[in-house]
Amino acid sequence: MSVNLQTPIDYLKGVGPNRADLLRSELGIHTYQDLINLFPNRYIDRTKYYSINELQPNNAEVQIIGQITGFREVAQKRGKRLVADFRDDTGLMELVWFRGQKWVRESIKIGQTYVIFGRTNWFSGKYNMPHPEMELQTEHENNLRSAMQAIYPSTEKLSNKGISNRVITKMVQQLFLETKGQFTESLSKSVRGELKLLSKSEALFNIHFPKNQSLLSRAQSRLKFEELFYIQLQLILKNLIHKSKIKGFTFDKVGDYFNTFYNDHLPFELTNAQKRVLKEIRSDLGSNAQMNRLLQGDVGSGKTIVAFMSMLMGLDNGFQCCLMAPTEILSVQHYNGLYELCNSMNISISILTGSSKTSERKEIHENLENGSLQILIGTHALLEDKVKFKNLGLAIIDEQHRFGVAQRSRLWKKNTSPPHILVMTATPIPRTLAMSVYGDLDISVIDELPAGRKPIKTVHRYDNNRLKVFRFMKDEIAKGRQIYVVYPLIQESEKMDYKDLMDGYESISREFPTPNYQISIVHGKMKAADKEYEMERFVNGKTNIMVATTVIEVGVNVPNASVMIIESAERFGLSQLHQLRGRVGRGAEQSYCILMTGHKLSNDSKTRLETMVRSSDGFEIAEVDLKLRGPGDIMGTQQSGVLNLRIADIVKDKDILECARYHAKLVLRLDPTLALPENKVILNTYQQMSKYRNIWNYIS
Ligand code: ADP
Ligand code: MG
Repeated sequence: MSVNLQTPIDYLKGVGPNRADLLRSELGIHTYQDLINLFPNRYIDRTKYYSINELQPNNAEVQIIGQITGFREVAQKRGKRLVADFRDDTGLMELVWFRGQKWVRESIKIGQTYVIFGRTNWFSGKYNMPHPEMELQTEHENNLRSAMQAIYPSTEKLSNKGISNRVITKMVQQLFLETKGQFTESLSKSVRGELKLLSKSEALFNIHFPKNQSLLSRAQSRLKFEELFYIQLQLILKNLIHKSKIKGFTFDKVGDYFNTFYNDHLPFELTNAQKRVLKEIRSDLGSNAQMNRLLQGDVGSGKTIVAFMSMLMGLDNGFQCCLMAPTEILSVQHYNGLYELCNSMNISISILTGSSKTSERKEIHENLENGSLQILIGTHALLEDKVKFKNLGLAIIDEQHRFGVAQRSRLWKKNTSPPHILVMTATPIPRTLAMSVYGDLDISVIDELPAGRKPIKTVHRYDNNRLKVFRFMKDEIAKGRQIYVVYPLIQESEKMDYKDLMDGYESISREFPTPNYQISIVHGKMKAADKEYEMERFVNGKTNIMVATTVIEVGVNVPNASVMIIESAERFGLSQLHQLRGRVGRGAEQSYCILMTGHKLSNDSKTRLETMVRSSDGFEIAEVDLKLRGPGDIMGTQQSGVLNLRIADIVKDKDILECARYHAKLVLRLDPTLALPENKVILNTYQQMSKYRNIWNYIS
């Protein structure tokens, strides 16, 4: 019946082998389908015509009707340019060509009426239009033309070779002629009906030749929805298949360890969010599918206790568990925190890091293999091949953003059956992005801080207020509090940063002299043992001030520290600032965060600082961060390919994304194999996409 959209683009009338090659190499257009999916970047109102005397120096793109009265060549530094006088009833302007001059001289006729279109410049008393698009007025009127004219993505090479926007438009028109504008529907009636989406054919017509603004918007929504719907469908299917194929260990009982801890040792009441997340984890562990869960929770929201209680579920079912953290400091902290709890319940726990001694290692290896060691904490030293478990049931990874998917899968291989995996992150990823980036993980969120936390007071101070800041520090120290002073350390300017840190340390040492004050310093150039020593002193309250680079960013917990001073705060990213601020506000005392900067601030820096002062909500901050930086900088987006979307935008179209995900889930919940007749179009489209690999562009 209809034209096969997989037909190579060479067969389209008006596209010869040369043009086909260019379309392939420049725009990745191989088939009819690819051309129909070349969506315009923007649209221009072509119902409006300007006269030459109406032109303004700031006109963007205009179209004008008039005639060429003559050509001339003007020599310039290199080569020559071709200039034409162009007139209408109201005045004279120039058209200019720097390239393709021969073709212009041969094909553009003097004295005929043309519609020209392009950007105008004001140059030595006259308007000119370089490389105008030109069409005879008679032809212009005959063309399939809509009020909003599509402007397609292009490249310099294409325009140099004469494949202008007009030429591409013509190709698309030709394609609509050959296919009679009929395209196979790709969404089911029920989805379309419920969301009042345009049909595929209507949407494609209006994306290329919009009849009006409202139809254009509807066409865009429909196509964005479709794009996101199939990505979500793919992710959810992957997850379902994973669950049905990969059997996990079933932790079917909640036993003594968990109950004893819950009843006798839990140092505080769990927040509702913690309880909810524990239930979610419990239900995963109790099903017979392997758990792959991401736990997002703001700094200080209490993820560690959730991790620990999940491990207790593992122990209750006779399994070993491990907790992996990205740094030595953090591993030690976890170990110290959990050691007491384990001790009081006769649970064996050890720590393994890069600096574990050989004899310790040996013992750990042995006890892991004979099963007498129940919980192992550590850095990625846990991933080494020598580390073998007797029966690892649950592996927890703290601070996901430091580890990649590869590491997750190495943990998997530690057992004949993969252990359950819980990944914890304190970098809140906006939900929308998490859906796309971590589509293969289930997501839990702790969205509530433990009761009694006082919000951290955050202020922005300029460098010249430093004396006041010092006075404030002294007052806090007098109350028995401890203080962090953090300096940026960014690789490229390492030397400078290092100097700043040392200068800062010196001036603080002068201001806070011994023996009244004690100061710790930690930075990346120190040996691990020295770092640890200095951290220890601060953790144990032996020092009042911790001067540091961002090595303390992740995870350290010193509840008595109540002031965080961030130097050159304008140089930190938002999520980093938020992480740093999370180091304070962990005790009962009022805490403060002081953002120090110079006076010269970029707009983005100002936005970041204002956001920090205004908000303490990690998710809100993450959203602002995403808007400022775009999704490209957020971990995981590179691999997930959410940046290669054809029409949707992961940030701007987040409502459509959520809607698409909801509907993809709904469809699969009612019909997991897409076997129902009404879902046949979805199945067909999905298979077609997989067959022609379109969808694999998005998902590796
Ligand atoms: P994060 O989520 O940043 O890893 P932690 O697990 O380190 O947070 O918890 C931060 C602090 O809050 C710890 O001192 C912890 O003991 C405490 N905490 C956790 N949950 C609660 C709770 N429900 N009530 C009171 N304090 C809690
Ligand atoms: Mg933590």
